[in-house]
Amino acid sequence: MAPLSAAFPAFARPNRSLRVASPEALHLSPPHLVGSELEMLRLSLESGWLAPAGPGLTAFEGALAEVMQIPHALATASGTAALHLAFRLLGVVPGDEVWAPTLTFVASVAPAVQMGARPRFLDVDPASWTLDPWLLRDELHAAARRGRLPRCVVSADLYGQPADIAAIGAACAEWGVPLLSDSACALGAEQHGLPAGHGARLVALSFNGNKIITAGGGGALLAEEPGLIAQARALATQAKEPAPHYQHETTGFNYAMSSLLAAVGQAQLPSLPARVVARRAIFERYREALGHLPGISFMPEPGWARSSRWLSVMLVDPRAFGADREQLRRALAEQGIESRPVWKPLHLQPAFRDAPAVGGAVAAGLFERGLCLPSGSAMGPAEQARVISLLRWLHRR
Ligand SMILES: *Cc1c(COP(=O)(O)O)cnc(C)c1O
Repeated sequence: MAPLSAAFPAFARPNRSLRVASPEALHLSPPHLVGSELEMLRLSLESGWLAPAGPGLTAFEGALAEVMQIPHALATASGTAALHLAFRLLGVVPGDEVWAPTLTFVASVAPAVQMGARPRFLDVDPASWTLDPWLLRDELHAAARRGRLPRCVVSADLYGQPADIAAIGAACAEWGVPLLSDSACALGAEQHGLPAGHGARLVALSFNGNKIITAGGGGALLAEEPGLIAQARALATQAKEPAPHYQHETTGFNYAMSSLLAAVGQAQLPSLPARVVARRAIFERYREALGHLPGISFMPEPGWARSSRWLSVMLVDPRAFGADREQLRRALAEQGIESRPVWKPLHLQPAFRDAPAVGGAVAAGLFERGLCLPSGSAMGPAEQARVISLLRWLHRR
């Protein structure tokens, strides 16, 4: 057989920026192959199931359910698709309020906003950088007095740090408000000895290329209640009613995961515990090497949490350090080292200029001073030393 590069010349000249690893550039969180992906893909192709269905997909969903200790899982085309399905299951309709922490990725609320919901953004707890449960409790009391409770609360994990689902869930349960956990970035993390997101009514995950485990894209939705996932599965496959012809009581989506992606995900998933250990070791190396420098501190980890440290995040106090976060980011970029500011809070985004915010100063301060450093689990100590020595040198200047 002719090599693939003969039929597709693009394969012969891979774009550097798209390759898994290039010698000089150091990326934030590039995909890390385990080695069995190709074999799993071959098995998947040979099985003939080239569809969003089949035994491989079912096996991947089973493995996810086991890892998350949540009995029912649906693999989806993306994490955002899983969140969209979740909002639909929770009955979000135009005019509803949907509450979320202001410090998260836009996808935590974007599908709800597209459904006509109005977001309300709450500040995060400085001890975890995730949704402040006490602020949430007070706001829910105030909303109940106004007679306007949210349709749902979204709690989002942050850079591998789990949110405190026990406290957030208790605040929601007081008023019967359902909780959705956007755990897209925290697979492998634990809160109160349970997987991130565990205890929420619905939990969304992502297998995008930059996550701790990737399928080359994709996501998942998990729930304790079997009915919820059965409903999600129907909605994800165009809401077809059981009939020989196509019968629809409602309209759905084409949101199921491809079985080919599930094969890649299945190859990757067993390495999750090792990947968490590797990311935590990277974080510790940064902290040991840089944490004592004036003006530098690192993302905290509360006693009830075991972060996956998906990304290592550092705070820079410009007065004590002598340079600000943006100067450091640019100096790293000049050496081919990718870093990125902490999420710009959603209440500061022009897209949500009309959305009410409850507090927000904690999140705004983290955005101003926070920098995410290269954290890929394939990064070796020598590569990490490039980042560390450059940051040390910038401090001495
Ligand atoms: C990655 C991520 C998403 C989106 O997942 P996709 O699979 O890229 O759609 C949503 N929320 C958070 C917090 C994420 O980190």
